[in-house]
Amino acid sequence: MNSRIKLLPDHVANQIAAGEVIQRPASVVKELLENAVDSKANKIQLNIKNAGKTLIQVIDNGEGINNEDLCIAFERHATSKINIADDLFRINTKGFRGEALASIAAISHVEMHSKTKNDEVSHSLKIEGSKIINQSLSAKRFGTSISVKNLFYNIPARRNFLKSDNVELRHVIDEFQRIALSHPEINFLFNNNGIEIFNLSNSNFKKRISSIFGFKSENYLVPTDENTSLVKIKGFIYKPEFSKKTRGNQFFFVNNRFIKSPFLHHAVISAFEGLLKPGYLPGYFLNLKIDPKKIDINIHPTKTEIKFEEEQSIYAVIRSSVKHSLGIFQVIPTLDFEQNRSLEVPYAFKSKNPKPPKIEVNSEFNPFKGDSVTPSIKNIKYESFRTATQNDNSDPTEHPKLSIDSPESIRVFQLFLKYIVCPLQTSMIIIDQNRAHQRILYEDFLASITTKKNSSQQLLFPIKIKLNSRQRLEFENINEILDSIGFKLKLRKDSSLEIYGYPQQCPESKTEEIIDSLLSGENIDHSIEHFSQADQISKKLAKKLAIKTGDFLESEEQQMLLNNFFGCKETQVSPFNKPIFIALKKEDIEQKIN
Ligand code: ADP
Ligand code: MG
Repeated sequence: MNSRIKLLPDHVANQIAAGEVIQRPASVVKELLENAVDSKANKIQLNIKNAGKTLIQVIDNGEGINNEDLCIAFERHATSKINIADDLFRINTKGFRGEALASIAAISHVEMHSKTKNDEVSHSLKIEGSKIINQSLSAKRFGTSISVKNLFYNIPARRNFLKSDNVELRHVIDEFQRIALSHPEINFLFNNNGIEIFNLSNSNFKKRISSIFGFKSENYLVPTDENTSLVKIKGFIYKPEFSKKTRGNQFFFVNNRFIKSPFLHHAVISAFEGLLKPGYLPGYFLNLKIDPKKIDINIHPTKTEIKFEEEQSIYAVIRSSVKHSLGIFQVIPTLDFEQNRSLEVPYAFKSKNPKPPKIEVNSEFNPFKGDSVTPSIKNIKYESFRTATQNDNSDPTEHPKLSIDSPESIRVFQLFLKYIVCPLQTSMIIIDQNRAHQRILYEDFLASITTKKNSSQQLLFPIKIKLNSRQRLEFENINEILDSIGFKLKLRKDSSLEIYGYPQQCPESKTEEIIDSLLSGENIDHSIEHFSQADQISKKLAKKLAIKTGDFLESEEQQMLLNNFFGCKETQVSPFNKPIFIALKKEDIEQKIN
């Protein structure tokens, strides 16, 4: 009797497998981007047409595939990422199942070009419905480019099941964001129908979050950092007031892979208990590092669900570390900014009515006395206040929205016109106002230079200064950096320089002096690379513009200083490597008084 049981032909098996891995264009995008990441590329471009229904193309500059491997790559269970079963317990790559390319090739028209560093030319392959229809050589750059056209052309039911372009694009963007967030060190570009959707330069995690979710979001990020033998957690949570009703700001990454975990999500929810309005979800971006031996990624074909060996303990660590971050933040409540911090005039009193300028004459003023409050310092403060209110057409009597506490209730005070004292739960910190402000400004300027985003104020009547030949040369050298900080300058034929814009952190009255001194070139060493120049300029500006010892600060200014300071990446030392604050522990105080 003839056997009724037959082995399925490969192309049918592949089509069935494809059903599990590839549900929609976004699934193809995920798999191709993951392959590009695994290829160690540092630049990855995604181009799609009609939300990926017509075309999905991924171009990387990674290590490529050699000619021999190119055909095998499309076979089912073909992978270069694991060799033996034990490798499953030390996975460091995104892929390992060897299914993606086989699945994609079974249900679309695929074209792949690849060139390794050992190849003279690039190899190309064309596949339609699992069949190789063309192989050729071409001249291309290193790396791999893969195009997937006409997805589900041979499975009409699937094709018809696809949603509108808008919905499918949303899914593609979700997948793109997850991968872009797991790898801030990679430069990602993304175009749909020729229109740029993302252009993410390589950066750090925090910057990557803000370049995806908007610059404003950076002000609401609170760092979370925890190191245990079981799991290391590093990332950010959004302050409670930035929580939303809709999903979209919840991200767990385990060993650089985005995962979904309702269980761990609950750990974060429970840490936020009591801080969120009903129906609101906390936002978080948490990277977990766990020994690959202690997790199983292989429980779902799309690899977004993971089994943890010690799930309960991980839950506890997440909950306590999020609570800890919230705790630190809670004692330093923040004002709800409408703007990004770098767009903020430091210590502007937005909540106050502008006062007419007063000419202050300090009859006690003695230029030979060290730290006296000089009239010029008062001037600076008044000006920064004015620039802030000038452009602010909101009701000046309206107080900034407060997150948890009202500012009056935080007991922060200024000591010796030099320090800001801030009592915490079990300690007291004493912050040097000048150094803390230097740190804030320094990070602001560096951020403007790297992101090219700044808040330039326009001068109604441009300031003109005459440059000497040395300053002219210096202008050519550093204009690009000054421009990215927000100084808008134009050099005229007669060697005069027109200043028609200046950054918000700089008072208008100081602009001319600052440009003049920056162009005098003292301290800027051009033998070093661009970044170090930017660093030097940022330091110089921070030093010149920071609040000084002897400056009186209103209580709002003190809080703003503290708030911005705690948003800094580095809080230990000033840009000039001086300590910024000391913490007195309760026990220490008790011991001293004993
Ligand atoms: P997996 O990623 O699970 O190994 P895939 O089907 O996605 O399986 O890919 C098969 C193989 O093709 C990979 O293991 C890798 O060797 C090779 N490959 C796929 N895409 C690329 C790429 N962009 N650059 C270099 N090699 C690639
Ligand atoms: Mg893969």
